[in-house]
Parts: sequence; structure tokens; C-alpha cells
Amino acid sequence: MNRPESSLQTRPQGQTTQTVPLVEIFSAIQGEGLNVGTRQIFIRFGGCDLRCTFCDSAHTWHAQSTCRIEQTPGQRDFEVFPNPIEISKLVAWVERQNQPKLHDSISLTGGEPLLHADFLAEFLPVMRDRISLPIYLETGGHRPDELAQILPYLDLVGMDLKLPSVSGEAHWEAHQTFLEYCDRSEVEVFCKAIVSSATDLGDLERAANLLAEVNPAIPLFLQPVTPLNAKGQPVPPTPDQILYWQSQLKQQLHSVRVIPQTHKMINQL
Ligand code: SF4
Repeated sequence: MNRPESSLQTRPQGQTTQTVPLVEIFSAIQGEGLNVGTRQIFIRFGGCDLRCTFCDSAHTWHAQSTCRIEQTPGQRDFEVFPNPIEISKLVAWVERQNQPKLHDSISLTGGEPLLHADFLAEFLPVMRDRISLPIYLETGGHRPDELAQILPYLDLVGMDLKLPSVSGEAHWEAHQTFLEYCDRSEVEVFCKAIVSSATDLGDLERAANLLAEVNPAIPLFLQPVTPLNAKGQPVPPTPDQILYWQSQLKQQLHSVRVIPQTHKMINQL
């Protein structure tokens, strides 16, 4: 599998700096999970090592030779630059997006941002020094060791809890360790599980047990899959299914909410 890792370059002065393959930077309204409806600066990293059946971001699976950078927040006036990208450039682009009283936080998304944990461990402290916005990590939740590298620089983590019957991916043990690391730290964490008509009740019970064991107060968002309208792709659950699942999960967990992808409802990027 082509797994684009961040690279380390040595400069003549002996300083080192990491580079990373980017997909894009833009300003948008978050459409999922705990931050839904808030305005974020999105930094989308290239590369993912999972292959979820419902993935709507297959263009992020492999590092691309170029990335696109929005010039004016929300205007979609992208300029194209060659990959990989140095920390100084990335910080400058995020600073340009950070206009007064516009954004609520910065989203690290992908792909899988934790494939670039070495880069993030160098980039995030620099960005935190320059920009006061909270930092939110969106992740598949299957790389706890990489999470540990950057936990001190994060404010909020949104972990996808991959239900095998829907995603085709199974990472129960990694999810548990990942959530335990979050729960022991000062970071705020929530989980999101994509559900379809094919969701297995056993998967949901296992997810509830896992969350309840770590901390039943961690919020869980059930996100009905957005249909891709392709043959063989998952279809959303029925209202009866989703009502029943929520009632079952609430027996063990304090907060179980159902929210579809709202950014797609308003035709946002
Ligand atoms: S983790 Fe995200 S980007 Fe990767 S395959 Fe799954 S849905 Fe797609």
C-alpha cells in the first residue's frame, strides 16, 4: 500500500525541518460531530491507510504532487502549489486564513492526519505559538502511539469508531487504547460512528461496551451514511433502526446523538 509518510529534510545550517503532503487548506462550516455548525480552518493532509466502504474522500488516500490553498477564507479561490510543504509555509497559510472573529478552531483532517505524527509534533507547537485558535483532530482512531506524540498540542479529538459491518474496517483494540489515552489527558474527546441499513446490532453493543468501559460520558454521534448513489454502496438506516439503536446505546452512555453530514445539506464543499 502506498503510505505517504512525512519526510525529514536537513538544511545546510544543520537545522532540520519536516515536510508533509497536503491536499488542501480552506475555511468552512464543520458539518459533523461535536463541532457541527462552527467555522473552522481545515488543513487536509494526504494519505490514508484505511479503506472504509463509505469513504467520500478517496482522493486523499495517496499523496498528490500538488495541493490547493484557499486565498480568501470561504471564497474557494484556490491556488495550486507543489507538495510536500514545509512548516513555515503551512503556518503562513493558516495565519492568512485566520481573519479576526471568523473561525472557532482549526481542523486537522485527511486522509489520516496521524500518518504524519512526526510532522505534527514539530508543526503544532509552532502554530500554537502564532495562532490562538483551539486545535481539533479528526481521525480514524486506530493509531494510538502516534496520537500520544501530539496529544499535548490538541484541544479536541473526534475519533471515528469504525463499525466493521458498515466500514469494512475493524480496530477495536486500537480504538480502546486510543480512547484511554484521550481520557487520561486534558483533551476533550467524542466518537462518531457511521451507520447504514446494514449496521449490525452486535457492533453497536460492542461499541457501547468499549465506550462505557473507558468513560460513559464520552459523547457518541451516530451519523447516518450519506448515500454515494453507487451500486453496492451503503444506504442510510431506516427511522425505526436509528430510533432503536439510540434507545439501546443510551442504556449505557450518557450522550448519544444522531446527526447526518450537515455540510452536504447546504451544498458546502
Ligand atoms: S478513514 Fe476517512 S479518509 Fe480513510 S478511508 Fe476511512 S473515511 Fe476515507
